[in-house]
Amino acid sequence: MTDSCIFCKIVSASRNASVLDEAKATIVYHDEQVTAFRDTHPVGPTHILIVPNKHIESVNALEPEDEPLIGHLFTVARKLAEAEGIAKGGYRLITNTGPNGGQTIFHLHVHLIGGQRMRYPMG
Ligand code: AMP
Ligand code: ZN
Repeated sequence: MTDSCIFCKIVSASRNASVLDEAKATIVYHDEQVTAFRDTHPVGPTHILIVPNKHIESVNALEPEDEPLIGHLFTVARKLAEAEGIAKGGYRLITNTGPNGGQTIFHLHVHLIGGQRMRYPMG
């Protein structure tokens, strides 16, 4: 947990209702490893962010010991896609990394976006 990180605040809000108001997130899933909540500026009918509970700045800061955590995060993404009813139609998982990748919040997260046909190509 870092005091200045909004996503760390949301993770701790999911454990402690008293800080929910401050973090103002709609949490859709939480377990001992990851937390998922709705993006405040959705770009599709479903737009959920899935984050590790521990503060990892970006993919650039990943270590081999994080591999089970990241694998779990993707399994949670799959379950949330099913729960949202978008699994069959398809969806997009995005992890922006660093300034050129468009990362604006430096707590690693995966965007789960779906419910409409995604534009392509990217970039
Ligand atoms: P990125 O640009 O990949 O770092 O994505 C950051 C995402 O976080 C953006 O889609 C924002 O809309 C979203 N976001 C920023 N603050 C919050 C918040 N307090 N709760 C939920 N989503 C947020
Ligand atoms: Zn954080």
